[in-house]
Amino acid sequence: MNNTFYPKKSLGQNFLCDPNIIRKIVGVIAPQQGNTIVEIGPGNGALTDYLVGKCKELILIEKDEQLVQNLQVKYGSYEQVSIFHGDILTMEWQPFLPADKIVGNLPYNISSQILFAVYHHASHLREAIFMVQKEVALRLVAKPSTKEYGIMTVLTPLYGKAEILFHIPPTVFFPRPKVNSSLIKIYLTPDIHKDIEDKEFFHHLVRTAFNQRRKTLRNSLKTLIGAQQISDIDLGLRAEALSFEDFKRLYHHLKEN
Ligand code: SAM
Repeated sequence: MNNTFYPKKSLGQNFLCDPNIIRKIVGVIAPQQGNTIVEIGPGNGALTDYLVGKCKELILIEKDEQLVQNLQVKYGSYEQVSIFHGDILTMEWQPFLPADKIVGNLPYNISSQILFAVYHHASHLREAIFMVQKEVALRLVAKPSTKEYGIMTVLTPLYGKAEILFHIPPTVFFPRPKVNSSLIKIYLTPDIHKDIEDKEFFHHLVRTAFNQRRKTLRNSLKTLIGAQQISDIDLGLRAEALSFEDFKRLYHHLKEN
């Protein structure tokens, strides 16, 4: 990093600066010689330093032009490294897929959007290993009827299985974020719910149910259900009381009726 670099809040730039935590995260990523690995937001290479040379192909995607220039100086001569200057949310993913692992210490302001983009491409990926804000991590694995349980919790099992590996305090970053962080791993298994063919409709159903999460399903889903009764599902409940399997039953009922 050159001397005139100032971390940009707008790009969620909190750089890892604790070698022990960095090694612990890389241990979870566990790069293999045969792997293609995509890193989102490599920054100045805290994780990248430990990935380069450890896998078949390493693809770096960074939005900050100044950091891209530094990455080019640092890794540009490695044959197995490709550096893309772009916004992960708007760029085409085709040029760097399929990949075995997608990893990164994510910019926290857009981590949920990045997770949805990963789900969108899940059939071309095997694992996602990300550092996210603790609240986002808790949402991925929340139990029904808790405050963390929501859209993200119900949509995640459609694409894979998420787990929280460990929590990380603000002290390991520069600048320090105001929130705690967690390392998460998602095993992407998009074919597991093949019976949910219309994923767009499943998303719509879950979003509509949670949009007015304090209302009963009978009210929040009025436009989708009308006056129908649905066996096995109590429409007097709120969305937060329904498990993924319940939403799946609701989906099939609405698709078939
Ligand atoms: N990996 C580095 C580390 O751990 O020290 C940096 C992590 S920092 C939390 C997030 C990184 O993502 C920054 O380098 C930032 O510039 C980059 N970034 C922010 N928004 C991005 C986007 N939309 N697409 C790609 N990279 C982005």
